[in-house]
Amino acid sequence: MKKKVILVILDGLGDEYIPELNGTPLEYASNETVTLNKMANEGMCGLVNVIAPGIPPSSDTAHFTIFGYDLSKEYTGRGYFEALGANIPINEGEVALRFNLATVEKSNNLLYIRDRRAGRISGKDAEELVRALQKAISERGIPAEVHHTLEHRGVLVIKGEGKLSRCVSDVDPHESNVPVLKAMPFEEISGEELEAAKRTARVINEVTKLSYEVLNDHPVNREREEKGLPKANIILSRGAGIAIKLTTFREKWGMNAAYVAGGPLYKGVAKAVGMKEIYVEGATGTVNTNLKGKIDGVLRAIDAGYDFVFLHIKGTDSLSHDKKSREKAEFILKIDKVLDKLLEIDDVVIAVTGDHSTSSRMGRHIGLPVPIAFYSKSVIRRNGISKFNEVQCAEKGALGVIKGSDIMPMLLDLSNRTMEYGLRPSPKKVIYAGAFGEPLQL
Ligand code: ZN
Ligand code: ZN
Repeated sequence: MKKKVILVILDGLGDEYIPELNGTPLEYASNETVTLNKMANEGMCGLVNVIAPGIPPSSDTAHFTIFGYDLSKEYTGRGYFEALGANIPINEGEVALRFNLATVEKSNNLLYIRDRRAGRISGKDAEELVRALQKAISERGIPAEVHHTLEHRGVLVIKGEGKLSRCVSDVDPHESNVPVLKAMPFEEISGEELEAAKRTARVINEVTKLSYEVLNDHPVNREREEKGLPKANIILSRGAGIAIKLTTFREKWGMNAAYVAGGPLYKGVAKAVGMKEIYVEGATGTVNTNLKGKIDGVLRAIDAGYDFVFLHIKGTDSLSHDKKSREKAEFILKIDKVLDKLLEIDDVVIAVTGDHSTSSRMGRHIGLPVPIAFYSKSVIRRNGISKFNEVQCAEKGALGVIKGSDIMPMLLDLSNRTMEYGLRPSPKKVIYAGAFGEPLQL
């Protein structure tokens, strides 16, 4: 019998040794976690190199890989996921970039970045500035749109006739006191792709220059200056992504998939591969998220007949970026308290892991592997590990070290959805009654 699958990703779960905790935050927490330890003890564990050993993944490349997509062939670039996650309308072939409202100072003919987040501008000020920029973009007939999203952030969409490309470098240099950069085509591209990248870069550079022109003397910024606040006088864009119809998760794996997530990026990745959203009130993608509600959302999705449910929890990563290792451990304990409900479901395989390790000592993603546990109420193999953490999963994990791209095939096998190697399945594009293949008509 086919089982259903629940994939729980605790963002940035893995970490480094923190002296004050005498272990990693997960190791520290695992002295008290109950459900995670039960999963490790009665299930199977190991470590995952999500992309490759020593490569710190970004969250979107990590999730894309875990869902079984090939980064070298199918990756669209981050901006597309951001746009989808923020419900910004985008058509096939268009390119989206994330942007920050930032503070720059003009010196000679260069714009020097003084604050990449313009004093974390938000609310009405940010909205009004983005609106003013959109007005100027429309008046000039530039084929682009700007949308404000959260706080100092927004999304820039490049439109227009002609082919566009995601292969353009960032305007944002990702640091302060250096000049704003010119968007340029990637070095390794040529031919039609190069022409498309040149066209895309031209529009991005035009919008960037226009943003300084429009925003620098805007009344909102004059007012901010009077109050001693940094001006938000430019938009710094990054992470170009192209809207492409991807092979859906269902086409790839034959499962109807749903997701429960709060952060826009994760919603975007899940949406891009065709997963359906299970809305949860108060799922914010922050440490104050509605954890209980999210678990109820997973249960609702299982009851509604979805074969695969992806649950994403972001707080673990955010706390690591803020270098709050103890708070990260406490947050893991909070998660552990609500996960128990999932273990009660019959005929389901659950995997718990992270998308990458995030060092709460340095506040950034690192290339160390993350722990994983596969659990099913009906028992797969008992690993007999007493604590779910990086060290025990490495020392006693029955699975050893796997790759991020191994997770989906393993889940397929453990849920009785896979065919013996060497058998010839039907072409994957056709799905009938939950199975791949075209039924023979009489
Ligand atoms: Zn992440
Ligand atoms: Zn992160």
